[in-house]
Formats: sequence, C-alpha cells, structure tokens
Amino acid sequence: MLLATDLDGTFLAGDPEHRQRLYQLISSHPEIKLAFVTGRGLEHVIPVLSDPTIPVPDYIVCDVGATIVDGVTRQPVQPLQSTIDACWPGERAVADAMARFTRLERQDVPQQRRCSYYCSADAVNGDIAAVAASLGCEVLYSADRYLDILPKGVNKGSTLRALVEHLGINSDEVLVAGDTLNDLAMYEQGFIGVCVGESEPALLEATADRARVLHARHAGCGGILEALAHFNLLGPQGVEAELRAIEAPGKADLVMVYHRLPYEEAIEDGKPVRRRPASPNGILPTLLSFFAEGKKGSWVAWSTHDPRKPGFQVHTEVDRQKYPELVAARVPLSKSDVDIFYKRFSKEAFWPTLHTFWERARFREDDWVVFMKVNRLFAERTAAEAAPGAVVWIHDYNLWMVPAYLRELRPDLKIAFFHHTYFPSADVFNVLPWRRDIVGSLLQCDYVGFHIPRQAENFVDVARGVAPVKVLETKSCAPRYLTYGCAVGLEEVTTAIEVHGRRIGLGAHPVGLDVGRVAKVLEAPETTHLMAELRGQFAGVRTILSVERLDYTKGTLEKLLAFERLLEVHPELQGKVTLLNVCVPAAKEMTVYQNLQTRIEQAVGRINGRFSRVGWTPVQFFFRAIPFEQLVAYYAMADVMWVTPLRDGLNLVAKEYVAAQGLTGGRGVLVLSEFAGAAAELHGAVLTNPHDPYDLVEKCYYGLAMNKAEAESRLRELFGVVQHNDIHRWGQDFLDAVEESVAAAGANAAEPATPAEEEVA
Ligand code: UDP
Repeated sequence: MLLATDLDGTFLAGDPEHRQRLYQLISSHPEIKLAFVTGRGLEHVIPVLSDPTIPVPDYIVCDVGATIVDGVTRQPVQPLQSTIDACWPGERAVADAMARFTRLERQDVPQQRRCSYYCSADAVNGDIAAVAASLGCEVLYSADRYLDILPKGVNKGSTLRALVEHLGINSDEVLVAGDTLNDLAMYEQGFIGVCVGESEPALLEATADRARVLHARHAGCGGILEALAHFNLLGPQGVEAELRAIEAPGKADLVMVYHRLPYEEAIEDGKPVRRRPASPNGILPTLLSFFAEGKKGSWVAWSTHDPRKPGFQVHTEVDRQKYPELVAARVPLSKSDVDIFYKRFSKEAFWPTLHTFWERARFREDDWVVFMKVNRLFAERTAAEAAPGAVVWIHDYNLWMVPAYLRELRPDLKIAFFHHTYFPSADVFNVLPWRRDIVGSLLQCDYVGFHIPRQAENFVDVARGVAPVKVLETKSCAPRYLTYGCAVGLEEVTTAIEVHGRRIGLGAHPVGLDVGRVAKVLEAPETTHLMAELRGQFAGVRTILSVERLDYTKGTLEKLLAFERLLEVHPELQGKVTLLNVCVPAAKEMTVYQNLQTRIEQAVGRINGRFSRVGWTPVQFFFRAIPFEQLVAYYAMADVMWVTPLRDGLNLVAKEYVAAQGLTGGRGVLVLSEFAGAAAELHGAVLTNPHDPYDLVEKCYYGLAMNKAEAESRLRELFGVVQHNDIHRWGQDFLDAVEESVAAAGANAAEPATPAEEEVA
C-alpha cells in the first residue's frame, strides 16, 4: 500500500506515543510505501529527513503538488516533474503580476513553481483569480491564511494521482491523510482517506459525504493509526496485533552500551576462557562499579561469532559475587563485520575526521552499510535489555547510530551518550558524507557528554547545520577550564539545546584517573625495584619521557624533529639529556600507520646516528606496549613529560604522569600540547603548540631549565586537579547530569506556555 500523508498537522503531529507507534510500524513494514504530500518547499522538508525516528519517505510531493522528487535521492520523478514545469510561467512573472494586490504578503519560506502569500479571508477575491488565470495559473486558499498561486491543474491530488499511475498502484491501496483544506484535492481523487483529529472544519465539511474518508478521533499519527485499523490495511491481524508484537521490555535499569565486553574473551588450548581486561585507565572498573549495589543492569557489547556454528549464547555472567544483578548481553558479529566496523571503517573514516585530519579520511558506502547494520544490532539488543524508563549509556563514535534506532524502538528510555574522542567543528565534521544521519542520531539522546567544553560547543556548531537549534542554557567554563589560555579553551559553553521540540542536555566530563590504582602500583616492590634500576641507568642524565600510541594525531614525528633541533641549538645538552619514547604499535590490520612508522624509525635512526656517544644514546625508542605497572615507574622518575599530540580528545598519559609524580613527592614538569583536551583542564602544565617547530623546542627547553620552586608549585596545582577529578567522580557526575537533564526536560514540558510564547508558536 501507499500512505500519502500531509506533514504539518498530520504525519508530524499527534500524541508522541502515537507518532512513535506509527513510525515504527512503517519502518518494520517495508511493503508500506510512504509519500509525504506537503505544502512545504523541498528545502523545508530536509530537516524532517534528518530526524532519524521519522521513516524515510519513498516520494516527496511538496510545494502543494508543484514539486515531486524521489525521497531518497531527492531528484525529480520524471516525466511527472517536467509536465508540471511546462505549466509554470516562472516566479518573476507571477510575483510581478501579483504585486498590485497590496494585501498579499509574500511568504518568506522556500518555494518552487508556486508563489505563496499570506492573505486574510476578506482580501481573497475574483481579481486575484483572474490575474492568475491570465498567467495560466490558479489560486488555492487554505487555513484562512495561506494563498498559493500554482500552475493550472496542479495540486496535491493531481500530482499524487499522477504518481499512483506512474507506479501502477491500485487506487484502493492508497490511503491519503491530511488536516487542512489544501489536502482536499487528495480526497477528491477517490482514494481512501483519513482526516485526522483536529482537522480544519472546512476540510471536514468538504469530505463529510465521502464514504471512503474517515474522520478520525485522534490527532496526527493517532488518526492515521485509526485509519489503518478501520480500513483493515494491515491484513487480518490488524494494527493492534502488530503493535503487540513489539518486544516486551527488559529488566535492566542501567544499560551500558560499550563496544567491548567488561572481560576479555580468548581461546586457550581450544577452549574459550575469560581474562581481566587490560584497561589501564580504569574506565571499565568504574563503569562496572555502578552495578555494585545490586542494580539490575546489562552490558551490551560485541562478541565475535562464527555464523556457521549454531547456539550462540547471548547472555553471560560478568562476576556473580561482585555484580550479581549484571549480565553481559552479547551482540554476535562475524570476524569480517568486526574488521570492517571497528578496525577499518571507524579508523579510516571517522578517526581522522574527528581529529581534524579529514584529508586522510576514506569513505566507503559499503562500510557505512555494515556500520549501520552493526549499530542496529546493538540498538535492538539494548531495546530488549532495558526496563521501562531505564538509563542507557552509550559509549563513543563506533556506536553513533545506536540512539537513532533505539529511540524508535524504545521512546521511553533515557538515552545518554559519551564521546571519548575529540569532536571537531562543523567545517571539519561536515566532510563526513553521513553527517546528517550521525547528528540526527545524537540528537535523539537526552544527554550527550564530551571531555571538554570546546568539544560540546563544536557539537552545537555541527547540529546547527543539520536542523534549527535553540540554545536553552549556557554556562561559564571558568574556573574549572582554561578559557583563552589554550587552543581548545572556551569562555562559555552551551549546556542544553532544543531541536525538533526535544531538549538535549550537553556537558563536559573529562575522563579522570583511578588514582588509587596508580598508588597501588607505586607501592609494589617490583615498581620500587624498577625505579631504582632506572635511576642507576640514567644517573647524571636528565630524562624526557613520551608515551603514546603510533598515530599521526600524536605528533611523535614532530617531537623527534624538535628533539633533534634541541640538541643542535643547545649543544650543551648533548650527553646530558635522553628522550625515552614509548610508541605502541597499531594492530597489523591497520595499514594506515605503516608509512608513519617508517618515517619515525628513520628519524630515530638519524638522530642517534648523528649525536650518540659511547655511554649515551639521545633517543631510546620503545616500539612496543609497556605494561602499565612498569610505565608508572618511568613516570615517577622522568624529569620532563613531553606530550605533543597535534589533536587529542583528552590524553590520559599526561594525567598519569602527574599522578605518579604527585604521589611520590616529585617535581617533574609536564610539557603538554595545547591541542590535547587535557590542556583545558590541567592548570599548571607548560603548554606548547606542536604545530610550531620553534615552540616545541622552546617549551621543552623551558621544562628542562625550570627552577625547583616553579616546578613544585606547578605540580602541586596539577596534582590537585588530577586527584580531585578522578574517574569515580567522572562517572558519577555524568550519570547525575543525565538525570538532571531529563528532569529539566520534564519540568519544561509540564510548565504551561505563557501567552506570549503561545503567540510566537
Ligand atoms: N599505555 C600503556 N602502555 C603503553 C602505552 C600506553 O599502558 O606502553 C596506556 C597509558 O597508560 C594510557 C593509555 O594507554 O592509560 C593511553 O591513553 P591516552 O588517553 O593517553 O591516549 P589514547 O591511546 O586513548 O589516544
């Protein structure tokens, strides 16, 4: 069947629950074709298309019938469009001719092949119709307000009729839905129809004697649902049965949606075994801690599954003693899906764009299809796990499309999203071919969190390019964050917006450390032993430490070149300073990093070749991961920590260094890129611009030459920040912010609009 529906007052109206029900019904019935038949211009339909909960129409008839396009490609449906075009004298001719009617006020909305005006009923007269006729046009007046000059014979009904014939659909399988007089033409074509509740009285009057038109009780989508049942358009089971088929809600009051399981799965001696995850920064234990007090929960993550093997087990226990009410809910993915979704697509398309290296991004439509499939599977699993009104906490850009699918499946949930990476401004983000879908999805959340205010504000910037955004709330960034003092600083940040009538809370939540865990490592005898060993090895030599993954965002090459320059311009440092550079290789499949690796290795070889002496190597390069337990010993003994990402969401390494130094009473100097998210938070760091080779050298030298008192005072300030804003505070603050935001949205909805607001609306 074809559902041909008006938008405003009809398909976009009604009780929110009825809307969700209808949208869901259409999405799950691909045999229902959908056509929007609207008075809006195409440009004004586009924001509706960016709302992921609204099903994508197969066709869009807009401009009151004067424009007809394919719903997906948005290209004209030919030859229907050309036929209409041939009857239109052109905008200029019509506007000039109508200029004499001073009571017509041109509507300032997008419009094509029609000229639309505001006009009060008493100003509509035969003269207007005569002038229109002389141009080969006709007049359509509706809702006591809107006057359209349209090509002769063109209206919603005529274009819909042409489309139905073009597609070869039986008239009895077309349901038309509308609410104002400019929809009347659709009913006049003899299709079955529904005038939804609260329709314009003139439309009800004009359709009163049409047997095949239902005057529905419910407004908007509720009326369409009524009509589907009334005309028995969904087969013998009817609508109610379809709706009952929707899965019963689950039991979890809190659902974590994280791409990784809270334990590691491995195969040993041919048998599946579990290991504690190697999560150095403690995010996983912190997230798990929210399930400690018997809270009913579920952790949705993927698990690789060989589809040829039957009997995949969805639910597994996590830790019966510690979290008796928590289950892991596994989404079975094939190895190939994981490789495309995580290792290839996310890293090749999204990672570079998010970190402002958009020229490196590679976009493949096929991969996006897999990405959406995987995200849908995550959403479906989540929908099945969550209890009514549960909080769902989704993590990171791998799961960007989950909110869109989830909101459609479960409008009742409190959906929160945390972005673990950098988030760029619109100039960069908009390079992503799927930006509308992604932002549309994020706008389905109740709350979206980022590390720092700049990233939250960038999101608002991006959202503005997708749909009209109303800023509801802003907050000053100081004193917690730097304002003008670093490249990612900001003075004021948006903390709530309204889009498509929904409130979305936004906030900055820089991930913190499990400081207790660093302290524990420092107390271990192995650490004390390694620290003594390192001290002996570097006696008389100052150490600069640098720890990062192999990635072009981390500025490793820039740092090596700056170190080479440092030894040139300060030859007195030769033999006195060593750079210890830990660089963790990427997985083999991530071929994008091979070239960078070669260039880094060449630079290290050249520097050591140029400057080494017996007993002193300028760069000690560790091209491997060092276990966290050992890394802490390096942090504790390094004189300077040199962290130089060209762009970074946060950078935990910088915080770990501060913690290790602070806990051991050290006075090491943190030289930190002002492009790392942590720069906005870490008062006391020496900030450097890694894009500027001169500044890199200068600030590293400044760090080495810093006097004791300044170093101690800086470290005190830094340690204060790291100790206070630890990982537990991060998690709790985030969840509290979600609840507060949901409560604020509820309070706003409950507050009656003031007369002034009503007028504006
Ligand atoms: N890390 C580690 N061993 C290494 C190098 C890094 O355990 O050899 C850990 C480090 O302690 C830190 C994390 O990896 O917790 C890196 O986090 P960061 O935020 O600095 O960078 P990301 O890799 O997330 O971009």
